[in-house]
Amino acid sequence: MEQALRGVGVSHGVAIGEVRHMGTAALEPPATRIPTEDAPREQARAQAAVDAVAADLIARGNLAGGEAQAVLEAQALMAQDPELMADVSRRIAVGSSAERGIYDAFAAYRALLAAAGDYLAGRVADLDDVRNRIVARLMGVPMPGVPDSDEPYVLFARDLAPADTALLDPTLVLGFVTEEGGPTSHSAILARAMGVPAVVALPGATELVEGLLVAVDGSTGEVLVNPSEEKQAELRQAAAERKAALSAASGPGQTSDGHKVPLLANVGGPGDLPAALEAGAEGVGLFRTEFLFLDDSAKAPSEEKQVEAYRKVLEAFPERRVVVRVLDAGADKPLDFLTPADEPNPALGVRGLRTLLDNPEVLRGQLRALAKAAEGLPVHLEVMAPMVADRVDARAFAVACREAGLPAKFGAMVEIPSAALRARSILQEVEFLSLGTNDLAQYTFAADRQVGALARLQDPWQPALLDLVAAAADAGRATGKSCGVCGEAASDPLLACVLAGLGVTSLSMGAASIPYVRSALAKYTLAQCQRAAEAARAADTAEEARAAAQQVLSGE
Ligand code: PEP
Ligand code: MG
Repeated sequence: MEQALRGVGVSHGVAIGEVRHMGTAALEPPATRIPTEDAPREQARAQAAVDAVAADLIARGNLAGGEAQAVLEAQALMAQDPELMADVSRRIAVGSSAERGIYDAFAAYRALLAAAGDYLAGRVADLDDVRNRIVARLMGVPMPGVPDSDEPYVLFARDLAPADTALLDPTLVLGFVTEEGGPTSHSAILARAMGVPAVVALPGATELVEGLLVAVDGSTGEVLVNPSEEKQAELRQAAAERKAALSAASGPGQTSDGHKVPLLANVGGPGDLPAALEAGAEGVGLFRTEFLFLDDSAKAPSEEKQVEAYRKVLEAFPERRVVVRVLDAGADKPLDFLTPADEPNPALGVRGLRTLLDNPEVLRGQLRALAKAAEGLPVHLEVMAPMVADRVDARAFAVACREAGLPAKFGAMVEIPSAALRARSILQEVEFLSLGTNDLAQYTFAADRQVGALARLQDPWQPALLDLVAAAADAGRATGKSCGVCGEAASDPLLACVLAGLGVTSLSMGAASIPYVRSALAKYTLAQCQRAAEAARAADTAEEARAAAQQVLSGE
């Protein structure tokens, strides 16, 4: 029977496919004791699960080839380590179930590895992955991590961390649905970057039965379970018509009376370039460099690896702006080698620029790599720092850029209310501002961007957030410097018009949103956008602000 559920739509389009769950990471089997006569059966069960997991890792290695193959084969060997298996058998012989025996034996081995110093300690994550796979198999629950599927699917999860999403095969993921997360969570950002529909903050998402057919509408936030054939056809046709109409529009971002608002792409690495170019991005407004650091969050990538990735992005946009954000580690994007593990409140802790100022060699390495990457290229490189709180922060970043001799403009992200309120003072030190409305909303409303229940406060239509955007844009205008938006607010077509009306000078977003924003901007004059902005700021709630802007724009 057809059933309709509703969450928050955060990435346009329709996906129809089967539910696959992101497996839970850590499963702890119950410590129930088994009778001695069951031990041989449990030992055989443990051995069979270990063999099956090892065979699966080897098969996946054969498919992947290259470096991944070596890693997966090493994991398979780990699973079959004779000493480890002997310990499992011993534990089962004295009353553990197969899953508990595996769990405890791996824990003991893990402690040994962790104590053994650098190289072996680095294998702990691999060992945990093997253990989780064997335990999941024995308990008959989905494998941890990304689903093992050769068929395309709709990915369901509690929320997606950047590290999980780095492992996704974009050719298999039709769309995302998450139980947590708001419009600015990484699930939403990644879905837009991949150009797949997504719905977040859907209550009960993690409980939907694996394999059910669902139709996900990323514009309305509706998730239909068991959609009828007619409904599927209707949704597919509506999505195709909309896409065709949008892709017919091209050219630079501008209002109907020719006020230019460049439309730039948010990218996480070279993999996002084809979509950005196809959408007609006029440059890159946010290159989230921390995505390059996620493969192995235990250490910084080599300078050569960084140069190679930066150069690919710079080469794709000759004579265009490319704004690179230096590493934003911490809070929702932790990196093991930089992020303190014991902070009581990581979002308010040492993250972003704060982390880089504490680890100047990492910042210097990144700036050096950027300078090398830009050598000889006809590009307008701009570099910006995340989480700038005040003029002292802005100056420290400017000094680091000057010392590195970087042939680039340097700027500050406005993600903390203090930076928006004192934007003029920050602009005494740097050459441009870029509003990170995701964090700016989080800090303005004291509402964690990863908590689905707080999606209302993360809504970028909140008039208080619009006031802060206006303050930063005014400072840009007064000093003759640019002030763009690179947070997810820029990807909402109606809000993009309001932002242009508030005076922001560029809009940067996941490539898939560019056609929608281009077509919305082209419908209205700058004066209409300004009136819509005034109406939105005069409202008291996000809903009222949205309705007021809509009324101004559709009524004129
Ligand atoms: C933001 O905070 O708006 C932003 C663009 O940065 P991120 O989403 O990567 O924190
Ligand atoms: Mg941010």
